[in-house]
Amino acid sequence: MNIHTKSPVDFRRILRDFVVTMRGAWRPAACVLLVDLERKRIEDVIDINFQRCPDCGSRLVNIALLGEIEQTSQGTPYQTQKTMALCTGNFEHAFNMRDFGYYIPPISQIMDEARDHSGQSNDQDFTLISSIHGVSTALLFTKLTGEKIHACGDTFYKLLSRDGDGFYETRFYWRADIIDRLLPVEAGQNLLENC
Ligand SMILES: [Zn+2]
Repeated sequence: MNIHTKSPVDFRRILRDFVVTMRGAWRPAACVLLVDLERKRIEDVIDINFQRCPDCGSRLVNIALLGEIEQTSQGTPYQTQKTMALCTGNFEHAFNMRDFGYYIPPISQIMDEARDHSGQSNDQDFTLISSIHGVSTALLFTKLTGEKIHACGDTFYKLLSRDGDGFYETRFYWRADIIDRLLPVEAGQNLLENC
């Protein structure tokens, strides 16, 4: 468990409270506890005993993919989002859950605005901004679908050379970093087009 905090947190007490709360209730076989360090309480329980892909038997994880921002003929911005269960063994095994049409600024845009606003480029701060945005987006789709959404994927242009060669690919932001080992942070392809 990696904890970066200056104030000591009594994890034994938190875990004892958790066990008491869960006594007699449904209990996942394996789970991750998301702990709110400020309030010293459990924020969420993530069952990591993920379902198996019916095609190949690998684990399935629920994700939300954010589309590019487009404009209507009247100039109103819009965007589509997809939630799906994605196979960790083969990205071609993707099972659509629901489509949405909210307007969620892409993480790349938030980062650009933060850079412009601050006039400096401390990449550590921007990494934090991007992960908070990713986590809150995953939580939003968890509420909308009633299913635990573990990551949100945004589309970035991966630059391969100075003359602008590259390709669009999906980058994931995970709710709990223990789960991110199931999939790479960068998908190597644009999942929104290929799934
Ligand atoms: Zn599969």
